[in-house]
Amino acid sequence: KNINLVELMRSLVDEYQKQAVAKNLNFIPYLPEQPLYLKADADLLRQAVGNLLTNAFKYTPSGGTVKLRIFPRGYRAVIQVEDNGIGIPAEDLPHIFERFYRVDTVRSRQTGGFGLGLAIAQQIIQAHGGQITANSVLEQGSIFEIQFPRVDK
Ligand code: ATP
Ligand code: MG
Repeated sequence: KNINLVELMRSLVDEYQKQAVAKNLNFIPYLPEQPLYLKADADLLRQAVGNLLTNAFKYTPSGGTVKLRIFPRGYRAVIQVEDNGIGIPAEDLPHIFERFYRVDTVRSRQTGGFGLGLAIAQQIIQAHGGQITANSVLEQGSIFEIQFPRVDK
């Protein structure tokens, strides 16, 4: 079924905006005016992007900023989740999409979690013909990007 990504993200933004207030984070969404259509399961896609936002919120200290950007890139739709949080060490970055992998720092031990959120997100994105990539600089922040093929409507 074809879904409008922008509309789906609008409802996700509402949900996370409340969490941002509670955690004293600046959450800044950039959604385009025009619709972007994808062939995807809305609930699964919501979960995948939600897992990225949950991480951004979890691994960014109070007062930090999380940005969600949705935009077209040629025949693709791009979803970026960027934070200026704790970042990921370069040696861990190749492993973060593996099941049960967690960066072993005092801070991540404090936060808790199973190390499954990114593995699930990657599974969902790839099952829809999309791709997910991560870039990060320790103590500066992280950016996760999802790319999806677009459809006409
Ligand atoms: P779960 O999602 O199962 O509750 P989790 O958040 O630890 O637990 P993932 O979402 O799979 O697991 O992330 C794997 C690891 O990658 C995390 O434990 C953390 O070390 C690192 N990580 C993920 N996202 C970020 C981020 N935005 N900033 C810093 N580190 C991150
Ligand atoms: Mg997680």
